[in-house]
Amino acid sequence: MNRERMISNLKLNNENWDIAVIGGGATGVGTAIEAASRGYKVVLIEQSDFGKATSSRSTKLAHGGVRYLQQGNISLVLEALKERGIMRRNAPHLVHDLPFIVPVYDWWEGPFYGVGLKIYDMLAGKEGFGGSRILSKEETIKLIPTVETEGLKRGVIYYDGQFDDARLLINMMQTAVEQGATMINYMRAVSFIKNNDDEITGIAARDMETGNDHIINAKAVINATGVFTDFVRKMDNMFTDEIMTSSQGVHIVLDNSFLPGDSAIMVPHTDDGRVLFAVPWHNSTLIGTTDTFIDHYPLEPVAFDDEIEFLLKHAAKYLTKDPTRKDVKSVFVGLRPLVKGNTNGNDTAAISRDHTITISRSGLISIAGGKWTTYRKMGEDVIDQAIMLANLPHRDSVTSTLQIHGYHSNSQKYNELSKYGSDALKVSELLKEKAIYSDLLHPNHGIKIGEIVWAIRNEMARNIEDFLSRRTRLLIVDAKASVESAPVVAKIMAKELGHGRRWQNNQVQQFTQLAKNYMLF
Ligand SMILES: Cc1cc2nc3c(=O)[nH]c(=O)nc-3n(C[C@H](O)[C@H](O)[C@H](O)COP(=O)(O)OP(=O)(O)OC[C@H]3O[C@@H](n4cnc5c(N)ncnc54)[C@H](O)[C@@H]3O)c2cc1C
Repeated sequence: MNRERMISNLKLNNENWDIAVIGGGATGVGTAIEAASRGYKVVLIEQSDFGKATSSRSTKLAHGGVRYLQQGNISLVLEALKERGIMRRNAPHLVHDLPFIVPVYDWWEGPFYGVGLKIYDMLAGKEGFGGSRILSKEETIKLIPTVETEGLKRGVIYYDGQFDDARLLINMMQTAVEQGATMINYMRAVSFIKNNDDEITGIAARDMETGNDHIINAKAVINATGVFTDFVRKMDNMFTDEIMTSSQGVHIVLDNSFLPGDSAIMVPHTDDGRVLFAVPWHNSTLIGTTDTFIDHYPLEPVAFDDEIEFLLKHAAKYLTKDPTRKDVKSVFVGLRPLVKGNTNGNDTAAISRDHTITISRSGLISIAGGKWTTYRKMGEDVIDQAIMLANLPHRDSVTSTLQIHGYHSNSQKYNELSKYGSDALKVSELLKEKAIYSDLLHPNHGIKIGEIVWAIRNEMARNIEDFLSRRTRLLIVDAKASVESAPVVAKIMAKELGHGRRWQNNQVQQFTQLAKNYMLF
């Protein structure tokens, strides 16, 4: 798993790609797995790191979406519940079920949410993660010891899935490579190559590390760039209509004393009609999210003050311990790729989360919308379209039973290394290579220094941020600790990748600057 090798594949196979995918988030990587596992020759390019944009900034729920049930979008809920089951079956080392408790403060909420969640169970059918039921006040407090007890009447419990989004994406990237795909990070699509009939025959791409340009010839080109979909569509035709809009979602991360235990809180309806989650994750508590209309799409979006205040205020409403800005260990922000549809105005919460495929006159296939949970189905649908458009020989999808790299049915037994699934033993062998490799990177977190070397050699990490934000999750769990760890990460990376002292200094400086977006003080 080596970027240089991927780039030589790109040069070697260049007259020969069946499918080229732009965008290395859940949608693009899912699409690459789908294409490669059906036996097509596929290359994927990502302008930054895999998962840099929305796909590492989700609430990390593999879910049917209770909210979409409230909106009456039964088909989306059904599809997502099915995909939730497939995700857990194919990647059990990273996707597990989690109890969610809806705390009930008004007498009518118990039966209301109780019935709604029974419908949710029914829709899941045999893919169900566990039956919902109404809890007494005492049972609710036992499961959520820090739930606000004033006025608490009872609770409703239901089950959904939880996962590590960036880790799953990295394992998906490895799966795609194992299936024969060429996957390149830090390679940006800058324009399209067209024939005399104005049909797309390839992509002009720029290596963001070296500045070298590459031509990628392909029978079908798929645009899977999330909120950037319209930018890429305009690279094809600058007069095309915009189909995308976006809202930003903020999460704050607190330590686990705010929500000890293994159950999450789900608030279906805040004062202003949003859904709010408090979720235990990686020994921390995630609180989110907001839904703020946004009309510019930076790769590093920043939280607004009123979004932080909203989350703190509502966390205080449902938890006994009221969090303040000082308690926030990290803040992370993601942009939802929403397809406009018929909705007018800026009410992004009301826009459907279904996915949409469009094909331009020049043959550019764009896939957008959807959710993390439905990534596999999105890949399946878009590859079916590409096969027709590029006249490729038809082959059936196999991804519903394709195990994701790292698959392990009981990786919990590897403790701190469980996230590596079946790679855990190889990681622990690597940690024995040098004494320093088994030292902790930071005294408050379980990450070992040797994991830096593993991430470079096996997971295509190229810089400090790749390691601290997506190969491990230190940046989003504890931003201050990630800054304190940056110099050591830079030193080990520089040695492994052959960079000098100046690279190390630049890296530490850039990462420290970036991490400021994740800190409140
Ligand atoms: C706050 C929030 C919470 C969410 N929570 C959940 C959840 O709990 N469960 C769930 O199922 N879904 C959730 N979602 C939705 C889910 O995260 C997204 O639907 C999904 O991650 C979108 O993936 P994507 O690949 O389409 O987009 P992205 O992850 O944004 O990937 C697009 C990629 O394209 C790349 N790119 C852009 N232009 C170019 C170019 N010119 N050349 C090369 N590459 C390019 C970008 O760098 C980017 O990495 C959430 C979303 C948000 C915002």
